[in-house]
Amino acid sequence: SVDVLDSTDTLLPDRLIVRGARVHNLRGVDLDLPHRKLIVFTGVSGSGKSSLAFDTLYAEAQRRQVQSLSTFARQFMDEMGKPDLDRLEGLCSAVAVDQRSSATRSPRSTVGTVTEVYDLMRVVWATAGLPHCTVCAEELLPDNGVLVCLDGHDTELPELYNRSFSFNLPFGQCPDCLGLGAAAEEDSTRLRLCASCAGARLRPAQLGVRVGGRSIAEVTALPVAQCLRFFTELTFSDRQRQVLAQALIEITDRLRYLTEVGLGYLSLDRPARTLSGGEAQRIRLATQLGTQLFGLLYVLDEPTAGLHPQDVEELIGTLKSLRDRGNTLIVVEHDEHLIRAADWVVELGPAAGEHGGQLIFTGTAQEMLSDPESLTGAYLSGRRTGHRPARRRTPVPGRALTVRGARENNLTGQDVTFPLGCFVAVSGVSGAGKSTLVDTILYRAAAKALGTEAPPPGEHDGVVGLHQIDRVIRVDQTPIGRSGRSTPATYTGILDSIRKLFAQTSTAKELGFIPGRFSFNSPGGRCEACAGDGTVRIEMYFLPDVFLECDTCHGTRYDADTLKVTYRNRTIAEVLDLPIETAAEFFAAAPAIAGPLRTLCEVGLGYLRLGQAANTLSGGEAQRVKLAAELQRRPGKHTLYLLDEPTTGLHASDVARLMGVLHRLVAKGHTVITVSHHTEVIRTADWVIDLGPAGGDGGGQVVATGTPEEIAANPASRTGRYLAG
Ligand code: ADP
Ligand code: ADP
Ligand code: ZN
Repeated sequence: SVDVLDSTDTLLPDRLIVRGARVHNLRGVDLDLPHRKLIVFTGVSGSGKSSLAFDTLYAEAQRRQVQSLSTFARQFMDEMGKPDLDRLEGLCSAVAVDQRSSATRSPRSTVGTVTEVYDLMRVVWATAGLPHCTVCAEELLPDNGVLVCLDGHDTELPELYNRSFSFNLPFGQCPDCLGLGAAAEEDSTRLRLCASCAGARLRPAQLGVRVGGRSIAEVTALPVAQCLRFFTELTFSDRQRQVLAQALIEITDRLRYLTEVGLGYLSLDRPARTLSGGEAQRIRLATQLGTQLFGLLYVLDEPTAGLHPQDVEELIGTLKSLRDRGNTLIVVEHDEHLIRAADWVVELGPAAGEHGGQLIFTGTAQEMLSDPESLTGAYLSGRRTGHRPARRRTPVPGRALTVRGARENNLTGQDVTFPLGCFVAVSGVSGAGKSTLVDTILYRAAAKALGTEAPPPGEHDGVVGLHQIDRVIRVDQTPIGRSGRSTPATYTGILDSIRKLFAQTSTAKELGFIPGRFSFNSPGGRCEACAGDGTVRIEMYFLPDVFLECDTCHGTRYDADTLKVTYRNRTIAEVLDLPIETAAEFFAAAPAIAGPLRTLCEVGLGYLRLGQAANTLSGGEAQRVKLAAELQRRPGKHTLYLLDEPTTGLHASDVARLMGVLHRLVAKGHTVITVSHHTEVIRTADWVIDLGPAGGDGGGQVVATGTPEEIAANPASRTGRYLAG
């Protein structure tokens, strides 16, 4: 029998008990966690945080959930396997809010549609909207079966046709762009606007319908924070208020949650596919706040990614309110403020990959500060500090790039000067305009000048000084490949050298195998049952797809003959399964292979496996694979390196190492410009450009420039406040 549960206390057991967790690199982790608390999992990159949070706790919760719900799914359960662990007690239903789950690719998906605010708004415009003349914008009034404005323009508007505000349906969508708002599908990320609707996506009749004097498209174009104000200030007739009460509460609640998670600067019409991983994750978090559920386990993956410390404070408040409703939160995080705010902290380590996977610390943040084993505690207490350059480099007048009249998105037309031969940090709250300036304008303009392929730059008047650089490289967090076919070994070109080495062995020569035989991307030596994937995909319909190991090659990707060939007693499949740091030793005699492998270790990726599928890498890992690939290339005389938030997913100790690598590039005469909120990154910079003061329309200006000390002393800079602290 099922009892009616009306108290959150009875829903969740007291604690979550984990015994013998051995997923990936975990070494039989035993752990007790309190429920209804905000819990942070921290530790160096690759130590096993995600393996424990997502691949053990969440995976097991999901497995039990699915098993109880779906007979169809159950038949795959045995094969899908249980996460490797001895015992898990006190588990409840779980929700994962991560950055990797593929964001929607549909060009008609917007912030408004994914949060369902737009659906609720359609109800408001359909119920309370007043039609306006599309010629003179005057209100239309019914007169003998037609609608007429005071100026006498009449419009025949059948009731239904006026009233559908969906740009996904033929009734509502602009017939010229089919609701894309843009001239062509690929343009809807950088709007080239549709000539008929000017990006509003709807038909003229729909756009003529106004609530509070505004069309639905005008309201979705507002930043969320202003949109919220619009709805709270609206007035309605009693009858309308009765009908719309629920919809209005939901609209304002959802807009408020979006503001709380630091997204008040986004507009509801922003295409979903232009959002960063961190923004998409926070939108899902805001959506969860709207569901009012309790008794759940939420598992989050670095929700502070891309957030300025000021926004982090608000996010912490949001997480706590989710906890206070009677939920348990497990957050994989490195952010100092969030760690300090947690009720409970778990640190894994001591290092990455097979040198990690152990429980180092569990307890309160306060206790961690004085724990001699905890690396995080050492950084938080100041016993250890980040990378500090021996001296700051001083900008040389004239040796600089100046962007003139930067106006794209929210930028206000100012000139911005980036000193060359320096480490430059571009800071500012989320939505201030950092990516627009560095990526959409500077990178694309430099690429254009140097003949590198890139999309056209955003609006600006020109960049002065580009003749001083001879290469520009942008290292971002987009995946190195969407499939399992791209791996660190293929992306960096290391696999080509390894294949040549295998083809030179005596067995390969006897069998007549050429280097191509050792490729899993083309027929010849790969397993044809899975076409070299090593896995087969099973569609689960309403659930995420499940990947099962290929029966024929058992996940090795190769056919049996290819696996007869060994180099120093290892097959190509075994080599691809080695952690990069082990592979660097294994190939010590082959500098063409060992060199690039060491570079991967330097950027902190020694724990990844050579053949690890690209779609299992986080954004930060993908970014560091790209950085390593660039570092091993023969450098130009003066290369400009542009990075966006390179510390995502990195523990303080990893950050220190990465800063060391980047400063070495500058020491060799190159320039590094990085977008960052990370106070440790900003503190190591030679020069800081702080944008703001706020996000969206409230930002887009240069607030302060100078050394980190000068920024810290500048009362106008919101970043300065956190640097000083
Ligand atoms: P963290 O979250 O602390 O950065 P992870 O849990 O992602 O660390 O990784 C821990 C170890 O497990 C690493 O050595 C990583 O390469 C390995 N690993 C992670 N995901 C997979 C996977 N899907 N298959 C095989 N190994 C994995
Ligand atoms: P930051 O990098 O400082 O977080 P961005 O440069 O990403 O800020 O954004 C600055 C402003 O421009 C924000 O208001 C943002 O919503 C807007 N914006 C950014 N990219 C796009 C885009 N592709 N389409 C429309 N607006 C955008
Ligand atoms: Zn196979």
